[in-house]
Amino acid sequence: MNPTELKTPYFLIEEDKLIENLEKAKRLKDLSGVKLVLALKCFSTWGVFDIIKPYLDGTTSSGPFEVKLGHETFGGETHAYSVGYSEDDVREVADICDKMIFNSQSQLTAYRHLVEGKASIGLRLNPGVSYAGQDLANPARKFSRLGVHFDQIDPEIFASLNGVMFHMNCENKDVDAFVGLLDAISEKFGSYLDQLEWVSLGGGVFFTWPGYDIEKLAAALKAFGERHGVQLYLEPGEAIITKTTDLVVTVVDIVENEMKTAIVDSATEAHRLDTLIYNEPASIGEASENGEHTYVIGSCSCLAGDQFCVASFDEPLKVGQRLHILDSAGYTMVKLNWFNGLRMPSVYCQRSNGDIQLLNEFDYQDFKRTLSQWSVS
Ligand SMILES: *Cc1c(COP(=O)(O)O)cnc(C)c1O
Repeated sequence: MNPTELKTPYFLIEEDKLIENLEKAKRLKDLSGVKLVLALKCFSTWGVFDIIKPYLDGTTSSGPFEVKLGHETFGGETHAYSVGYSEDDVREVADICDKMIFNSQSQLTAYRHLVEGKASIGLRLNPGVSYAGQDLANPARKFSRLGVHFDQIDPEIFASLNGVMFHMNCENKDVDAFVGLLDAISEKFGSYLDQLEWVSLGGGVFFTWPGYDIEKLAAALKAFGERHGVQLYLEPGEAIITKTTDLVVTVVDIVENEMKTAIVDSATEAHRLDTLIYNEPASIGEASENGEHTYVIGSCSCLAGDQFCVASFDEPLKVGQRLHILDSAGYTMVKLNWFNGLRMPSVYCQRSNGDIQLLNEFDYQDFKRTLSQWSVS
């Protein structure tokens, strides 16, 4: 299969680039002794898990179906976390997870008897400090419901807990900032941590970013683990999948209203939702910084403000031309939706040997099925 023959829109996951990230993950593990579990809420295209499995230790989840998916398709250690479990969730998940992490002391008290003897039990703590660019994604934001705050901890619970989880970073590319958070946690919660078997430090540590000092991170993690006598975990999502995947689209029209807009056969609201939620414009592979021809890359949804970005090109764009919307895997493929009844992008993987393999494709029946399965009679 030649990429130019694939029908747009489609995602192309590149194995080479994925392995580049995974090799960095392996180095971090080897140097630090930390275990890494993939955060499925960021990326759960299980068709490529055979590539990822040899490098990571398992998966972590944010909801019950992710636990099941991790258990079924990834294996290794399955961590189950949820901000709010129902009793049914706990019963279903307890049999297939290795660690069950509760978000509050009330959920821990209500459900621990359903988990004991089946899985290791953990509690999420909120360190009260964080590193996150946007308030929406900041676990230590005001009135945060994520984890137990220090002044609310009942010290008695640590005697019957196996571990705790902290998650307080979002795309943190600054190793010193992370080490600062580690020190703060060690100082504030250290005497509690000393009583545990494991501590997870969550996700959001961007150790695959070019130039990231993995040695420094590894040394700090190793020292922290040894100081408190715990097995450390990180829960990377975006760091594993970053820069591996393009969303490939076709220009279907060009219109002009003071600015030129190239309309493509995809939409941020349906296929790249975080562009909209976090107001972070996409990058286009074909663009050139000093290009003379500037366009809004507009979506084909009916939402007035739905655009991927503004980009400049050396040559004018033409109808029928393909564009690569870069870095479109993390928090993207997991959020695809059918808004406007647009064609859903297919998903392909380009293997290291050049072969292109189809992982998923969708048709009208898939769209129809999500809306109703039965009609009133
Ligand atoms: C979102 C999340 C992660 C993954 O975060 P990334 O920024 O994708 O690394 C890990 N753990 C928890 C608890 C999360 O909520």
